[in-house]
Amino acid sequence: VDHGQPAPSGPPILSVRDLRVAFPLGRSWRGEERWLTVVDGLSIELAEGETLALLGETGSGKSVLARAILRLVPPVGGQVSWLGTDLAAAPPEAMRRARRDLQILFPDPLAALDPLMTIGAQLAETLESLRPTRSPADRAARMAEALEEVGLPTAVLDLHPGSLRPAEAARAGLARALLPEPRLLVCDEPAATLDGAERADFLALLRAIRRRRRLALLYATQDAAEGLRIARRGLVLLLGRIVESADSAVLAAGARHPYSRALVAAAGLVRPALHGDPPSPLRPPTGCALRLRCPLAHDGCAQVPPSLDPVAPGHRVACHVAQDEAQDGTQSGGKAP
Ligand code: SF4
Repeated sequence: VDHGQPAPSGPPILSVRDLRVAFPLGRSWRGEERWLTVVDGLSIELAEGETLALLGETGSGKSVLARAILRLVPPVGGQVSWLGTDLAAAPPEAMRRARRDLQILFPDPLAALDPLMTIGAQLAETLESLRPTRSPADRAARMAEALEEVGLPTAVLDLHPGSLRPAEAARAGLARALLPEPRLLVCDEPAATLDGAERADFLALLRAIRRRRRLALLYATQDAAEGLRIARRGLVLLLGRIVESADSAVLAAGARHPYSRALVAAAGLVRPALHGDPPSPLRPPTGCALRLRCPLAHDGCAQVPPSLDPVAPGHRVACHVAQDEAQDGTQSGGKAP
C-alpha cells in the first residue's frame, strides 16, 4: 500500500456523529414493533482531500452508511454535518451546496443511469439542476471536458445507457458525478460489476482523477485489497459498528481484529481465520458480534461487547484480545500464508 497521500489536515468537511439507521420490520405476534438496525451509532470525520475506505462483508452496513450520509436513506438518529451545517436542518442554500459538493457512484453503473434518457440529456440535467447559471455553450463544453476526463468520446452523448458496455456506463456515471465539481465522492463498490481488466482500468482512472482534483473520497467495498489501495485510512465495519480503524498501511500489514485480518486476506497478507457465516442482524450474538466465528473467542467475549479503544496512535480496535495484546506488547494469529 503506497498512496503518496499527505496526512489530512484542517477541520473536517464531513462530520458524522452517532449515526443510526434502522428499518421497520412490522410487529411481532406480541404486538411489539421490531426494527433491523443496520448502522449502529457510527461516527466518522473526513478532512478536505482525505480518503477513507469502509470495509466489511455484505450486511456490515457500509453501503447504507454511504447512502445515509447523502440522505438517500433516512437516519433514525445521529447527525451528518457538511461544512459545519447539520444536513437534517440545513437551510435551502446550504442543502443546494451540499447536493453539489457530495456526489455518489453506485455499484451497478448501468442501473444508476436512466435507461430512457440519452447520456447527453442526463449530463445536461445534472448541470442544469446543480450549476444552473451556465450558458448552453458553456454547458456543452463542460460535458465534453468531463467525457474526455473519463476517457469517453463525445459520441456517447447521443446514446442511451442500454447501448453502453458496463465499463462505459461506469465512466459515464463518473463523468456525471464530476460535472457539479464535487468536493467529496462517495463510492459504493463502483467497479463491482466490471471484469478484471476493466475494473483495474476504472480504479486507476478514479485514483488519477481523485489526485488531480484533490477530492475527498469515501470508498465502501468488501474487497479489502481494493479499499486499502485507494484510501489512506480504513474503517472495518461489522454489523453496523466500527471494529477497527487505522491507516491503510497498518491494516494491510498488521490488522489486530480477527475480522479485519480475515478481510485483508484477499491482499495475501494473512490467512483467513474465520469460520461459519456472518451472524444475522435480527439475532446478533451477545457480547462481541464476531464471537461465534472467531478463533480467538473466549468466555468473556460472550459477556461484554468490546468497545472501540486505542491500541496505538491513530489505531483503534474493538476486540478484547487485541486490546490485551496491545497492553502486553504482543500480537497473536495472522500467520503468513
Ligand atoms: S472480542 Fe473476542 S470474539 Fe470478538 S473479535 Fe475479539 S477475540 Fe474474537
